[in-house]
Amino acid sequence: MSKTVLITGGTSGIGYASAKALKAEGNRVLITGRDQARLDKAASELGVEAILCDSTNAAAIVALGKRLAKDGITLDGLVLNAGIFYPRAISDESWDNIQVTMNTNFAGPFMMMQALAGTMSNPASVVFISSVAVEKAHPTCAAYAASKAAFEAAAGVMNVELAASGIRVNSIRPGVTLTEIQKKAGMSDEDIAGLAESLKGLPVGRILSPADIVPAVQYLLSDASIAMRNGHMTIDGGFGL
Ligand code: NDP
Repeated sequence: MSKTVLITGGTSGIGYASAKALKAEGNRVLITGRDQARLDKAASELGVEAILCDSTNAAAIVALGKRLAKDGITLDGLVLNAGIFYPRAISDESWDNIQVTMNTNFAGPFMMMQALAGTMSNPASVVFISSVAVEKAHPTCAAYAASKAAFEAAAGVMNVELAASGIRVNSIRPGVTLTEIQKKAGMSDEDIAGLAESLKGLPVGRILSPADIVPAVQYLLSDASIAMRNGHMTIDGGFGL
C-alpha cells in the first residue's frame, strides 16, 4: 500500500538511498535538508518533494509541522535520519562539538517528534537511524554514541506516550557505512581507503553501503513490523562482536 513518508537528511547517504527505494515502491516521499542547493539537487534526482529544514533550528522544525498541517499532508512514516559524526578522543573533545552533536542527533529528532506527531496517521511508524556506537564502545565516539543513546532512551517513552495515537518508534543501529559522513568528518580518500581495508576483517568482509541498511528502513515502515515497539535493529556486519 502506498504511504506518505518524510525522511530527514535526504540529500546523501542512507537518507538518499532510503528515499530512492521508497519512491521506487510507489510511496509519496518528502525529504528535508539544511542546504537549499543540495536539497534541490537530491529532490530533482529522486523525483521527490523537498522541504528546507535544519534539524538544529527549533523554529524551522515547528514551521515544518505547520506546513505539513496546512498542506493537509498526513505522514504514515517518518525516518529520523539527519545526523552528524565528528569523531574526537575524550581529551580533544570540545563543548561546541558536544552541543552540535547533541542538537543534531538528539534534540532535533526529539523536537521533530513533537512538531510532527499531530500530522501522523494512525497507525504510523517512526524509524530513528541510530548507530552501533550505542552498544560497542569505540574510541572517538563518546559524544556521538551518547547523542544516539539519548534519543533511543527518549524513544522508549515516546512509544508509551504516543501509543494511543498509533505512533511507534524503532531504531536501526548501522555499523560503518560508506557515505559522505566520512568526508564530512575530515577523513581523506586515503583514510577512507584504509578504513575500508581494515573492515575486510569483519565477519561480513567489507565496509557497509546504504543498500545494506535500506531494507530495514522499509521493513520498519511497513505494517509487517506493526508489533515492533522500541526495537533496535543492529546492522553492522559484525562490527559489534
Ligand atoms: P551523510 O552525511 O551522507 O547524510 C547525512 C544527512 O543528514 C545529509 O543529508 C545531511 O545534510 C543531513 N543533515 C546533517 N545535519 C543536518 C541538519 N542540521 N539539518 C538537516 N539535515 C542535516 O551520512 P549518513 O548517510 O551516513 O548518515 C545518516 C545517518 O546514519 C546519521 O544519523 C548517522 O549518524 C547514521 N549513521 C551512519 C553511519 C555511517 O557509518 N555512515 C553509521 C551509523 C549511523 P547535508 O547534505 O547538508 O550534510
